[in-house]
Amino acid sequence: GPAPADPESRTDSHCPYCALQCAMTLGSSGTVGARDFPTNGGGLCQKGWTAGTLLGSPARLTTPLVREDGELRPASWDTALDLVAARLRRLRRDHGPDAVAVFGGGGLTNEKSYLLGKFARVALGTSQIDYNGRFCMSSAAAAGTRAFGLDRGLPFPLTDVGEADVVVLVGANPAETMPPFVRHLHGARTRGGLVVVDPRRTPTAQLATLRLAPAPGTDLALALGILHATVEAGRVDESFVEQRTTGFDAVWRVAAAYWPERVERLTGVAAADQRRVATMLAGARRAYVLTARGAEQHASGVDTVSAWINLALAHGLPGRPGSGYGCLTGQGNGQGGREHGQKADQLPGYRRITDPAAREHVARVWGVAPASLPGPGRSAYELLDALGTEDGPKALLVFGSNPAVSAPHAAHVVERLAALDLLVTADLVLSETSALADVVFPVTQWAEETGTMTNLEGRVLLRRRALPPPRDVRTDLAVLAALARRLGQPAARFPAEAEEVFAELRAASRGGPADYSGVSYDRLRAGEALYWPVPDDDHPGTPRLFVDGFAHPDGLARFAAVDHTGPAETPDDEFPLVATTGRVLAQYQSGAQTRAIPELHDTAPTVVVEVHPDTAVGAGLADGDEARVVSRRGAVRARVRTEPSMRPDVVFLPFHFPGEQRANLLTNPALDPTSRMPEFKVCAVRLLPSGGV
Ligand code: SF4
Repeated sequence: GPAPADPESRTDSHCPYCALQCAMTLGSSGTVGARDFPTNGGGLCQKGWTAGTLLGSPARLTTPLVREDGELRPASWDTALDLVAARLRRLRRDHGPDAVAVFGGGGLTNEKSYLLGKFARVALGTSQIDYNGRFCMSSAAAAGTRAFGLDRGLPFPLTDVGEADVVVLVGANPAETMPPFVRHLHGARTRGGLVVVDPRRTPTAQLATLRLAPAPGTDLALALGILHATVEAGRVDESFVEQRTTGFDAVWRVAAAYWPERVERLTGVAAADQRRVATMLAGARRAYVLTARGAEQHASGVDTVSAWINLALAHGLPGRPGSGYGCLTGQGNGQGGREHGQKADQLPGYRRITDPAAREHVARVWGVAPASLPGPGRSAYELLDALGTEDGPKALLVFGSNPAVSAPHAAHVVERLAALDLLVTADLVLSETSALADVVFPVTQWAEETGTMTNLEGRVLLRRRALPPPRDVRTDLAVLAALARRLGQPAARFPAEAEEVFAELRAASRGGPADYSGVSYDRLRAGEALYWPVPDDDHPGTPRLFVDGFAHPDGLARFAAVDHTGPAETPDDEFPLVATTGRVLAQYQSGAQTRAIPELHDTAPTVVVEVHPDTAVGAGLADGDEARVVSRRGAVRARVRTEPSMRPDVVFLPFHFPGEQRANLLTNPALDPTSRMPEFKVCAVRLLPSGGV
């Protein structure tokens, strides 16, 4: 007989977590179903399958909270909003507009990222806005812009990677962070060419046909070694280098001194393996070099990414159909989140805030005078570091981020948050940052609101509202609109409806590098695959960038002459090991959401430090023991897991856990001079039995 009718109405949506933005359907009661889509091919990971659990979770916030007598207590929306507006007005009056700061997130929709930037610059008049994407994607963004004149994570559809003969993955662990991505690696794997560069033998590295395990902080030297091997073997794509690039000679002047045997001593990667990668790339018909956080999260992260881009350029990959260089964006809206103006140095459309023409265009869309727009403010860590200091912000509004867990030198960041006159958050659950706040606004989750996300390919996706939020929960857009009204802004300037905000975002982005002016909700609803730039309503979008030329005025890509400097902190007698941080499959980012999902929590309930068995023995530890990991900045309590594939000089900790388990208590806030990204991937530590000092 006929199948019984589905009792639930189902809405098409995308996952609330990572940049793969897997397509899913949502039932009216919050059940998740898989949906076929090019990036995930119908697959979801544990995080996606359980995403609906948080919707009805007892952990979620359902009423505004206001701190009274040291405790967060339920309050009405009017009470909470009036209080925040009054205190913001007073701080601004007493200390000037930069006394108020805003901290955003790479998981916020395009509409929220856009309105948050506008709220900061127009309603608050502050220059002090940045976001957590500074911690994870800004180095690749800067290196991509330097090389190609434009940064889009993958400048090609992800499915192109599936056709490759060779893929070189640098500091990326998609088998855990975005498992459905792995299907796009099978082609290269079966054709014999999946190279994984990672100091750890991650689940991704286990798929590799060739694994390179450089010491943390030496990836740049490794790229120079492979480039040297390429030149040495006469395998540079000379016609490409001549016709489509500039600057190779200066790069070779550096790389000439990095012969593979020397690089072997610096990195621990065998010279023969460096030569093998050079030959594999040279012999491939179609090849990709893809980087992620492992290359980026260093005090020399921009130069490290540039070194891998140099290698890709020497092999003629970028801008050639079927080949290329790309960065795997991490957070859900890691791409869109960096385009619409929540970054300290940017205005919507991925424009520079210091560019007079950009200021004029955006000011016109916003109906304000260009001179009234503040200039660039502090970068994320510098902003957190300045909170509550004499010249620093006195108030902070946090949307979609949990810096008490995710920022480096976390104990210091918590001290700075505590020094504020006013901390306000908009949150789904009481994250570690919200627990410190004076006011917490409860906001909707992805399934309860409409908005767009831009995935790792630069494709704009529509997430539709599938079910209503709890009664006293509002969208972030509504919170911003209500605050703006109370700060004296006309209602029409801060709409709370996502589609209305998007219409304004389109206008503001017009003519910019990330031009969304031809993207509309109607086109997205009709299922069009729109990759930016989409400069007008009839434009089909741009799935592949750079095919006819790079985005620099002369159309040429730029080699960057970068040299190996090594990490900011190196081991010594007191701190003899290198700690590196990363992720596990069952948790997402600071874990605020995924730790509240019982199935995920049970899978990865506490922080585990991975250690080589000999290193554990040397520290008086055995598998399963509780250890203390100590750096110059703090100490973490972690369960030991001995792992024979670890380098004996390296320990690994995931950063998703709270309290004394925060890996970021250890990490070094040494910043890249260009991207201002902290060095999450390298700090010096010692390992002790629990109770040791
Ligand atoms: Fe897909 Fe990422 Fe969601 Fe997992 S977390 S289902 S890989 S979008």
